[in-house]
Amino acid sequence: MARAAAQTFVDDDEGYLAWQAAHPDLYVINAERSLNPNNLVLHRATCRTISGTPTRGSQWTGPYVKICGSQSDLDEYPTARPCRICLADDR
Ligand SMILES: [Zn+2]
Repeated sequence: MARAAAQTFVDDDEGYLAWQAAHPDLYVINAERSLNPNNLVLHRATCRTISGTPTRGSQWTGPYVKICGSQSDLDEYPTARPCRICLADDR
């Protein structure tokens, strides 16, 4: 049975921020553009490190991209580490 898969935003800050606004209860993996499995960090969608205005005038979905979905959607990225800010007490 197919289910909604994780959605990846690349060079699409507008789409990412719209998704985030619509799904504050879901999760986001911050990944290198290459999706290097050794550098994935899992955040709550509301984490302050991945929302609002990007630092240093960069974009949210440029050199780093955002993989968005429910916690089970993101199970396909088992190497993702929990963010120490928003998921300190989880997983
Ligand atoms: Zn976080």
